[in-house]
Amino acid sequence: MWGLLLALATFAPAVDVGLGAPSTSVLGLTSPATTKAPVPTPRSSPAQPSAGKENGTSEQHVRIRVIKKKKIIMKKRKKLTRPRPPVTARPSVTTSPAGTLDLPEKQEPDCPPLGLESLRVSDNQLDASSSQSFGLGPHRGRLNIQSGLEDGDLFDGAWCAEQQDAEPWLQVDARHPTRFSGIITQGRNSIWRYDWVTSYKVQFSNDSRTWWGSKNRSSGMDAIFPANSDPETPVLNLLPEPQVARFIRLLPQTWLQGGASCLRAEILACPVSDPNGLFPEVPVLGSSDSLDFRHHDYKAMRKLMKQVNEQCPNITRIYSIGKSHQGLKLYVMEMSDQPGEHELGEPEVRYVAGMHGNEALGRELLLLLMQFLCREFLRGDPRVTRLLTETRIHLLPSMNPDGYETAFHRGSELVGWAEGRWNHQGIDLNHNFADLNTPLWEAEDEGLVPDTVPNHHLPLPTYYTLPNATVAPETWAVIKWMQRIPFVLSANLHGGELVVSYPFDMTRTPWAARELTPTPDEAVFRWLSTVYAGTNRAMQDPDRRPCHSQDFSLYGSIINGADWHTVPGSMNDFSYLHTNCFEVTVELSCDKFPHENELPQEWENNKDALLTYLEQVRMGIAGVVRDKDTELGIADAVISVDGINHDVTTAWGGDYWRLLTPGDYMVTASAEGYHTVTRSCRVTFEEGPVPCNFRLTKTPKQRLRELLATGAKVPPDLRRRLERLRGQKN
Ligand SMILES: [Zn+2]
Repeated sequence: MWGLLLALATFAPAVDVGLGAPSTSVLGLTSPATTKAPVPTPRSSPAQPSAGKENGTSEQHVRIRVIKKKKIIMKKRKKLTRPRPPVTARPSVTTSPAGTLDLPEKQEPDCPPLGLESLRVSDNQLDASSSQSFGLGPHRGRLNIQSGLEDGDLFDGAWCAEQQDAEPWLQVDARHPTRFSGIITQGRNSIWRYDWVTSYKVQFSNDSRTWWGSKNRSSGMDAIFPANSDPETPVLNLLPEPQVARFIRLLPQTWLQGGASCLRAEILACPVSDPNGLFPEVPVLGSSDSLDFRHHDYKAMRKLMKQVNEQCPNITRIYSIGKSHQGLKLYVMEMSDQPGEHELGEPEVRYVAGMHGNEALGRELLLLLMQFLCREFLRGDPRVTRLLTETRIHLLPSMNPDGYETAFHRGSELVGWAEGRWNHQGIDLNHNFADLNTPLWEAEDEGLVPDTVPNHHLPLPTYYTLPNATVAPETWAVIKWMQRIPFVLSANLHGGELVVSYPFDMTRTPWAARELTPTPDEAVFRWLSTVYAGTNRAMQDPDRRPCHSQDFSLYGSIINGADWHTVPGSMNDFSYLHTNCFEVTVELSCDKFPHENELPQEWENNKDALLTYLEQVRMGIAGVVRDKDTELGIADAVISVDGINHDVTTAWGGDYWRLLTPGDYMVTASAEGYHTVTRSCRVTFEEGPVPCNFRLTKTPKQRLRELLATGAKVPPDLRRRLERLRGQKN
């Protein structure tokens, strides 16, 4: 349905010929992007799971309309009466508007975005002729901004001019003379309405009073740019000639009938030199680290990982945990002083990025992190050296490489909000893990936990393991990985918001859209989330405005996942209920796919947070559970903490880690065939982990079993004890 709609909208003469106002010529711009028909994105297919927004609200289901009724209205307007600006008003570097070709003379697709999407352009740099409401004001005219759920709320999904506004415009003040080279527009993001602009003109000014238009070079007339044919697909128009100015205006000429003049935009602009220092200096977005600040597709990523491996062979190892649906490998970079080995007592930690392929920042941050750790280790940085010596770090930059390739191919500005989110089968990987919450909560309601049903390491449900179960190969690869390595701590890097969300991600009340659903480890999870949010510069910026429709800074930029929006089958919940690993989701930035030139700044925003978060694996208690007689470690012993209805288990060597916030705890170690031991352990604010070791004694029954297994005779003292025990039972 949606595909058909798009196809019709694309091939209908929606924009120019046949509808032109007498005063304007129609410009058949043929820049590569404008001729590119909007391709139906995965979100648009009704078969896809709903996930237009990071908050998972369904959008496409309401977007079914009869196409025949769609018409484009063209305002009747007088000849443009604004006076042409005197030539002297223009900066001298601008070339003559009267060219002979309609193609941009020298295409400059390399001009970066001015920053409407990334919020580098502040609200007060945006202005408009009128707006329907505050929530549809010019500050909402930003590419990919997402609306709130309610119609008419404060956070609507576009700038919309008033219906009566005969000559609407949206204005951006770049604050400096800037070389404008292109414009990207989208329609309105709304689950209630359809609004998009189908054509617009562009004007420039240096003082916001005198304006000149972008001209069609062959005719010398005002250029009319073809715009959108659906609400979401970003459409790029390169200017026939880049213009140097301080202000730029988009003037919608036509829009969808029955709708309003609504758009979201990004402006492409290159800085120009200001040798006389007439304008305040543009703050340079940079990093003092000389790292590879680029977006890396699959091949480039593999190459970069190999380079890091060659640079730091003693502390790195590359391995693959499986393949994507399209056969791309899920590469992991392991970083530790003994790569390839689990050392007794050394905790394993991981970062996973890119499970939503279009949320590209996490991938680059992990590639930057591995370069940084390698380099700082070689330089002898004590913090990094300690981290690599005391922990085994696993970095999976791309859990959904197929989705990423799709997004990368489209490019950071044109990928839109959802394309590339899913794996190649259209599965949202963050809903694809086994739901272990439901069986746990059902057992809890029946009073079976923890005596009959354990409160940890819940098994995969049978339906999930059947051959016809819809489990993505990427999901399986990660589950096997989780089962193979005794991970203690993890974060799962996403994008599109600025907040850290912690489990549970699924609401306990069935079908509740949102509801606070804490785990028994609420204190630990709140601490972990606060550590990341508290060391992330963007989240801590007191002047930051909300990304889209919720202001998470009011709550310290952390939130319980289920209290935000329910996600059944999330990786965090699965990790907590199926393994020992505590995992949170980090939403790294408002922009899911920031432009390359934002990467140094984003690295600086996250560098300390990425390190500090991994160091939290030292919080709590750790130790080894051993057999008292043999001193051998006991695998799969259960560590329970009084008052916390969630246990962890020991790894093969008997070593364990139990993340805890400061306090006094009664800790019990139990294992099959051993007497249970309880001891008190104090977690302080000092850096840990606090050692809390156990030596367990075999039960007489177990000794007997082992003796009989070796064919030995039962010693008389043990036989007497057993008889006594038997007598007690009777
Ligand atoms: Zn995501």
